[in-house]
Amino acid sequence: MINPGGQSPVGIPGGMELDPTTIDNEKCACGCEVWDHGIVLKKISGLMNPSGKDQLGTLPVIVCKKCLAPHSSALPILKDKG
Ligand SMILES: [Zn+2]
Repeated sequence: MINPGGQSPVGIPGGMELDPTTIDNEKCACGCEVWDHGIVLKKISGLMNPSGKDQLGTLPVIVCKKCLAPHSSALPILKDKG
């Protein structure tokens, strides 16, 4: 739900709506608090691809608006590799 002319409530998975003024902002390591959507292109080798061809896959990520660093929680595939 969006309040026209007012601040939008913060939606979280599960359907709860919280007052954004009571919640801390997630900050980047550079100090920026504004994030943007980005797309990482993953190079899928033919060995991993059912079609047998090299291909690019898209992975949506959240990136810092200022330094463009991907958010640490936004790359679960890379993170799992340790
Ligand atoms: Zn940053």
